[in-house]
Amino acid sequence: MKREVIIEEFSGIKLRIYIYGTGSPSILITAGIHGDEVTGVYAAYKLIEYLDKTGKLNGSIKVVPVVNVPGFQARIRHNPIDHVDLNRVFPDGMGSTVTKGIIKTVWEIALSSDYVLDLHCAGHFSYPYILSVYPDHDYVKAFVDNISWHVSIESSGQRGQLFIEASHQGIPGAIIETVGGRGYYMKKWGDALFKTILGTLNNLGIIEYEEANKVKKHYGKLHRVTSDYEGFFKPYVALGKEVDEGDILGEINGNTVESPVSGIVLGLADGVYIFKGESLARIAENKG
Ligand SMILES: [Zn+2]
Repeated sequence: MKREVIIEEFSGIKLRIYIYGTGSPSILITAGIHGDEVTGVYAAYKLIEYLDKTGKLNGSIKVVPVVNVPGFQARIRHNPIDHVDLNRVFPDGMGSTVTKGIIKTVWEIALSSDYVLDLHCAGHFSYPYILSVYPDHDYVKAFVDNISWHVSIESSGQRGQLFIEASHQGIPGAIIETVGGRGYYMKKWGDALFKTILGTLNNLGIIEYEEANKVKKHYGKLHRVTSDYEGFFKPYVALGKEVDEGDILGEINGNTVESPVSGIVLGLADGVYIFKGESLARIAENKG
């Protein structure tokens, strides 16, 4: 079933909500809350296509494939109408009637769900991971354990984010950050994310999907390695691989850069010119 909520009559902005099945367990899956993070949108539409052809579910799935409708149309992160970052203003909203209308509608669906899964992109040179506040709440950890992906890291817990606010309401929420951004989607990673979602729905008992798995490793918070130099960074390490403290991450302008922590490499400044103070790598620390 597709439901369209008209957010603003005169501008014709419509929020599309796809609802499958009834009752519990129920999950809200959102994408495109940052309008330029399109790999999540791609996976959400693949899910909709799949669910359109699927028979009876054990529970319900609500999919909002594009939350930030104006930002998605403009291929930018924020809502171009008011420059608000929609994933910072839950549950009350801020700025224009469009932002407030979208936030109110999505939040109401979140409150009537048992789980919230929000799909994002962390850049073109990143490795996918689950982001949550699992150390703080057992019920969040129980949800994360059912997400069919092998890397899980700890969120800073910044308020105003859909998954954080849901978690504070007792509704376990998590983000999956995958590869992509700036208005581009990566098909390979979108297909992988789609499989991760199906595996998760299997683990929650809502659908049956054979390739589901629950094996994962939990890491700490993301650590940004910033550059003391300007130039082209040449990485020596690979995305998704573990490094030890002191390992050489790469070089910039003839200067080597060491990893300040032991952990997993989730982001690298590849294919981009780096200015002093910008991030060269993102590493989630091993849990002590
Ligand atoms: Zn995002």
